[in-house]
This record gives sequence, C-alpha cells and structure tokens, in this order.
Amino acid sequence: MIDKADLMTKAIQLRKELGEDSNSPVDIFSLVLNIERLTLVYYPMGDNLSGMCIKGKSGDCVIAINSAMSLGRQRFSLAHEFYHLRYDDNMLSVCGKKIGDGKDIEKEADMFASYFLIPAAELECKSAQLAAKHEDGKLSLDDIIRLEQYFGASHQAMVIRLKESTYMNRARVEDYLMSSVRNRAEMMGYSSELYRPLPAEKQYKTYGHYINQADQLLKKDLISNGKYEELLMTAFRPDLVYGEEEDGDVVD
Ligand SMILES: [Zn+2]
Repeated sequence: MIDKADLMTKAIQLRKELGEDSNSPVDIFSLVLNIERLTLVYYPMGDNLSGMCIKGKSGDCVIAINSAMSLGRQRFSLAHEFYHLRYDDNMLSVCGKKIGDGKDIEKEADMFASYFLIPAAELECKSAQLAAKHEDGKLSLDDIIRLEQYFGASHQAMVIRLKESTYMNRARVEDYLMSSVRNRAEMMGYSSELYRPLPAEKQYKTYGHYINQADQLLKKDLISNGKYEELLMTAFRPDLVYGEEEDGDVVD
C-alpha cells in the first residue's frame, strides 16, 4: 500500500534539506550541486527509459537522465531519481518512461517526484484561484498549462497529478492527457521549452561531483593536464577543455 501522506512529508523534507521552502517552484537541476558526491549525467536513452540512479559503495552516486525527453519530463525524472537516491535501498534503479507504472517503488518515486515539484498546498491554492474564474468551478486546459508552466512540470505529470483534484473535470482527463499543448502554450505567450528536448548537441553532459573531482585531482597535481582533459572529454565536457563560453556575458 502506497502511503501518500508519507511521500508528501518526504518531499517537503528533502526540499528543506536542499535549502528550498515548502511551496515555491524549484530549479531542480541546480539542486544537484547541493547533494554531496552526486554526479548528474544527461544522456539520450531512447524511448523506453526516463533515467537511472546508481549508488556506489564508496558513497559516490550517479543519476543519469534521459535527455532526449522533454525538459518538463527531465525535471520530473530527476525528482523521481532523488527518491531512489534517498529512500530506496537498491543500489541500482533503472526507470521506465510511463508515469505511475511498474513496481510499487516506481509508483512511489513518481508520486514523490510529483509532490517535490508540485507542492500540494501551493497546487491547491493556485487551482482554486484559476477554477473560480469558470462557471463550473473546474480547470480548463489553459489553466492546466498555466499550472504546469508555473511549477515546471510536464503536461502528463500535471494532468496525472490533477486527476484526483476537486477542480478537475473528470470526464475530460483522457482528453487532456492526449492533448498536444505545445502550440497552445506558445499562443498563450509561454516559451515551449518545457515541452521540447534539448538540442541534440546538448543532450550529452556531466555535472557535479565527477567534474569537481577531476578539478581537485589536477589542482593537487595528482593527474596531468592531459589526463584531466581526457576525464572531461569522457564526461562530454569539451566546453571545459576548449573553454567555450556560452553565457553571453562579456568581460573586458
Ligand atoms: Zn525509478
């Protein structure tokens, strides 16, 4: 039996541990850097996997995210892997694409991810405000898009989460799940970033512990510059080797 209240508590607990409050939308990718000894790898994994979590005996851990999926889905996948990292005893988790599918531990990780990205109290408050504008007191498709944009969740994750909400028009759930919302979101003035994968050249990247470790080894003269560059190239970071600047800031 899956204990929703427990998962909700765990999600809020982890948000706090990572320096976030209980309600605001989070920049989940930057939170990885607040977890010691965690390396994040973006890698396109085809159509069936969303991500994986590997816990090493030494305490070093790796989370890999399928970067060929939409940004909204990648954000959800990362929150899902946080659950494996923190609350699952298995040393290796390989996770499927379909939300709410598979073994109990997968369903739990999905629910945790939903509560982590979309805190319950804030969702209730925002949904009530939006639904109040309609005669039937239910959320429209545009409202659902507003909510997923606010929390940075994929459309699927948002609709699945709202299924049980009193503000959801239950008869339209399937319809909403099947709706392709990218164009609609753009017409409402949003960027469609959330619904798109990263460009192919950006789908391979490594962040966090591994990169920092390589830097430490070089600084302590434990490896040569050539070895350092090799480590970075293996981790898909030619930008660090060749010094490509992409942030657009110009320093004179
Ligand atoms: Zn999983």
